[in-house]
Amino acid sequence: MQRDIEISLLPHEVEQNEVIRARLVAALQVEPARLTGHQVLKRSIDARSRRVVFRLMLRAFVDEPVPLQQGPATYPDVRSKTEVIIVGAGPAGLFAAIQCLESGLKPVVLERGKDVKQRRRDLAAINKEGFVNTESNYCFGEGGAGTYSDGKLYTRSNKRGDINKVLQIFVDHGATGDILVDARPHIGTNKLPHIITAMRETILNAGGEILFGKKVTDLILNQGRISGVVVNHNEEYTGHAVILATGHSARDIYELLHARNILIEAKPFALGLRIEHPQQVIDTAQYHSAARSEFLPPAYYSLVEQVGSRGVFSFCMCPGGIIAPCATGEEEIVVNGWSPSKRNNPFANSGTVVQITLDDVVGYDPLRMLNFQSEIEKAAFQAGGGNLVAPAQRMIDFVQGKLSVDLPVNSYLPGTRSAMLDQILPDFIAKSLKAALPVFGKKMRGYYSNDAILVGVESRTSSAVRIPRDKESLQHPQVRGLYPCAEGAGYAGGIVSAAIDGMNCALAVARTI
Ligand SMILES: Cc1cc2nc3c(=O)[nH]c(=O)nc-3n(C[C@H](O)[C@H](O)[C@H](O)COP(=O)(O)OP(=O)(O)OC[C@H]3O[C@@H](n4cnc5c(N)ncnc54)[C@H](O)[C@@H]3O)c2cc1C
Repeated sequence: MQRDIEISLLPHEVEQNEVIRARLVAALQVEPARLTGHQVLKRSIDARSRRVVFRLMLRAFVDEPVPLQQGPATYPDVRSKTEVIIVGAGPAGLFAAIQCLESGLKPVVLERGKDVKQRRRDLAAINKEGFVNTESNYCFGEGGAGTYSDGKLYTRSNKRGDINKVLQIFVDHGATGDILVDARPHIGTNKLPHIITAMRETILNAGGEILFGKKVTDLILNQGRISGVVVNHNEEYTGHAVILATGHSARDIYELLHARNILIEAKPFALGLRIEHPQQVIDTAQYHSAARSEFLPPAYYSLVEQVGSRGVFSFCMCPGGIIAPCATGEEEIVVNGWSPSKRNNPFANSGTVVQITLDDVVGYDPLRMLNFQSEIEKAAFQAGGGNLVAPAQRMIDFVQGKLSVDLPVNSYLPGTRSAMLDQILPDFIAKSLKAALPVFGKKMRGYYSNDAILVGVESRTSSAVRIPRDKESLQHPQVRGLYPCAEGAGYAGGIVSAAIDGMNCALAVARTI
């Protein structure tokens, strides 16, 4: 017999197997010897009341053995199979490649950046010298923006595909099984590069190809069909189809499509600032206690407020995290956040962003939202004074329109400089943030404080351009064989949804063989 049972446990009881068994035996009303074991199906923290508990959904096995876990998936050899060109080795490109293997297609992944190991040096130059290599940075290189990301794996896009399959592939390549059951699964920046390396090995072992330093600079088009791509202006790669998974920071790809008269559209997105508090402030507010129990993880928050017709919301919250310099071009500042698997840094950060509609940026140019985004990033660079020093302000000073006399110690490594952030942000964004922050302070004690630092600018929340595609075939309406994919094309936001879209594009290609 199997039965699914939900139990609540105090934080210190979660790892105590005998406590869990006793609770199951009581719930099942069976002799303890008949309970052969259990599996955890879901695990979440319930901090709504002062008594913080874990909620576990368990599957109990009575009088029958607990099924063995399945081993990692195996893939057929695809060396001699139909070739599919995948542009970009981010989550979308890598998961598209793995789906190609499963579907008996040979993926050829072309990536402009370097492999995870070599990429590390370029990240050190960003953080220590404020120097951005425009081909290898926090967004470009093996694993894309996902490799040195925070690695939170929750998504709201469960209608689009199989989230569990994505999580299982991460586990097959070295992530802990916890991500299969946690309500808020998280891998952490320290672990992601190893997982990405293992995924590369899977693809290469099955006969796929992953080539670095291969920046796609043109498309090979013939009578409304794509047959391949040009790399670094002088090399050609051809295949049955091209999956374009270049992410939202590949501005040159949008410019290329526009220059080749391939339809692209302006897309709404959200923009704002990254806000950092001492983690202890967030723990105290969320766990209702001055000191966090050692059995609880650093606390998380999610805040949203409607200001007039605009949503203002927290985005990509990183407990125990670091604010990261994520520019991909020269003389621009873009910030984002990450945290290690233990989330043991003393700060909590999150993007806090305002919805921007197409009406906010006048004109008909499909690149106008992108240009709008870029101008704000450049203004932030100027205000910081160079070398990726970011403009920053204390929270209450920002709301009250005062220049901060000094700034709190913070996690942004290239450095911060006091600035009036409302002079960098468009008026409607600054006003919306100024209205929302005190309200967030009413929702979460300690949030609205001059101990919090606001760092500019959180500008790449999602793509500012959409590359249209047919709903069924997933191909561009004007270019047969071209599959606009994931975040860069406007169909995903985050690691899991990008991975799902990558797999969906590979499946769509397989249907045409
Ligand atoms: C610091 C940071 C933290 C983040 N934290 C999280 C998180 O916790 N959870 C989450 O879900 N998401 C997070 N994200 C967002 C997440 O990383 C992205 O949503 C995801 O990586 C998008 O996947 P993608 O494959 O669509 O694009 P990308 O990851 O952007 O990959 C695109 C790839 O294409 C390559 N490329 C671009 N142009 C070309 C070209 N012309 N030729 C060849 N290759 C090209 C790029 O080099 C890149 O490798 C974070 C991002 C950052 C930067």
